[in-house]
Amino acid sequence: MNTADLFSRYIVPNYGRFPVAPVRAKGLRLWDEEGKEYLDFGAGVAVDTLGHCHPAMVKAIREQAETLIHCSNLYRIRPQAELAQMLVETIVGEDGKCFFCNSGAEANETLIKLARKYGHSRPAPDGAARGEILTFTNSFHGRTLATLSATAQPKIHAGFEPLVEGFRYLPFNDVEALRAAVGPKTIAVLLEPVQGEGGINVARPEFVRAAAELCRERDMLLLFDEIQCGLGRCGHWCGWKTIGGVEDIVPDGISWAKGIGGGFPLGSVWVRSRPMGAHDAALLSDLLGPGSHGTTYGGSPLASAVGKAVLEEIANAELCANAVTIGAHLTHAVTSWNHPLVRAVRGRGLMLGFELDAERITALPACGDAGKPASIFVVSLLMDEGLLTVPAGAAVVRFLPPLVVTRKDAEQALAVFRRVLDHLLDSLPPIP
Ligand SMILES: *Cc1c(COP(=O)(O)O)cnc(C)c1O
Repeated sequence: MNTADLFSRYIVPNYGRFPVAPVRAKGLRLWDEEGKEYLDFGAGVAVDTLGHCHPAMVKAIREQAETLIHCSNLYRIRPQAELAQMLVETIVGEDGKCFFCNSGAEANETLIKLARKYGHSRPAPDGAARGEILTFTNSFHGRTLATLSATAQPKIHAGFEPLVEGFRYLPFNDVEALRAAVGPKTIAVLLEPVQGEGGINVARPEFVRAAAELCRERDMLLLFDEIQCGLGRCGHWCGWKTIGGVEDIVPDGISWAKGIGGGFPLGSVWVRSRPMGAHDAALLSDLLGPGSHGTTYGGSPLASAVGKAVLEEIANAELCANAVTIGAHLTHAVTSWNHPLVRAVRGRGLMLGFELDAERITALPACGDAGKPASIFVVSLLMDEGLLTVPAGAAVVRFLPPLVVTRKDAEQALAVFRRVLDHLLDSLPPIP
C-alpha cells in the first residue's frame, strides 16, 4: 500500500497534511519518498533548531542511549538537573527552578496548575480561590482541554465544549481592556510575547509592561508562553527581550517546548524563585510540592541530555546572533520588494510572518474554489518549488528556518518566494 493509502486507512485524519512524505534530511535539506529535495524553512514548526541530524544532537542521543534512557522521576536524574541549571543560569539569568515534560501543551498545563495553586493560597475577599487567567485573541497555547480553553480562538474550541472554566479572553495588545478586566478573581496573565500560530504578532512593549505592572500591583502571576518564540528563535534566549524596551521585565513563569529538544520531544517550565508574598517567605518555585504534579517521561535522561546538547550548541555556535543577522536580511529583502501580494512583514529574528493579500489570492479558482486559505495555497506552491514553509491562520506564511541557516540558504529561499509571488501575481486578474 502506498503511503497516502496507509494514511487514509490507518491514521486519524486530524491533521491537514501536505502530500509529501519525508524520509531523510541533513542540515536544511530534506528529501521525500520520491527523491525530491526541499530547503526546509519550516523546521518542523520551529522545532529543528540545529537543522536535521546535527552531529551534536546525534552524538548526545547515541551516547545517552548507550548509558541510560529512562529511569523515571522516582530518582535523581543528573542530566535533568544540569539542563535546569543551564535554563536558570544562562537562558533566564534569574533565580528559578524548572519542571520537565514532553510537549508545549503539557508545559502550559503546568503554568495553569501553578496559577490555580497560587490562587488557592491567596483567596479573593469573599474567601473563594482566585482562579481566573487572562489570555488574548489569536493566542495559541495547545490542544489539551485546559490549553485549548486558554487559547482564545473559536476555531480551536469548536466541538469540544464545555471548555475548562477560568479563562477570560481579551484583545491582544489592548492596554485599556487589560486594565479594565482585572478583577478580584484574576490570578494570572498568560501571553505569547510573539504570537506564533495566530499569525506572528509581536506584543507591544507598553502592553507587556502594563501586564507586568498589573501582576505586581494585584498579586497575579505573569506567565510567558515562549514555546515558539523562545530559546534563540527570535534572536535571543528570551523571546520577550526582542520586543524592545521590556528587557528588564522578569516573569513569574515561562513555558518552553518546540526548539528546546531540537526535534526530540521535550517541554519545560521555569518558575521564578521569589517569595510567595510580603509576609510569606516560601518560594513560588516550591509551590508545586511533592505529589502535586508530574509526568512519567518528563525530563528523562535521554531527553535531558539532548536538550542540553541543543542549548550548548546554540550557545557555542552563537546561533542567537545568526538568527538576528539572517532574520534582518530576510525581513529587509521581502520588505524592499514592496510586493503587491505581501501586505505586511512581521516578527523577530527567525520567527517571521508574511501576511498575504488573501482576498486577491483566494479569487483564483485554484485557491478559492478549492476552499483553500491563501496561506495554505501559497505554502503548497512554495513546496512545489522545493521550499518548505508553514502557514499561520488564513493569510500568513511563516519562515521558521533552523537557527543554523546560512546567508546562502536565505538567498535561495528568497528567490523561490519571489518567483512564486511574481508568478501568482501574473496569473491574477488585474484589480478593477
Ligand atoms: C506549539 C505551541 C504550543 C503547543 O505545543 P505542543 O508541543 O504542540 O503541545 C503552545 N504554545 C505555543 C506558543 C506554541 O507555538
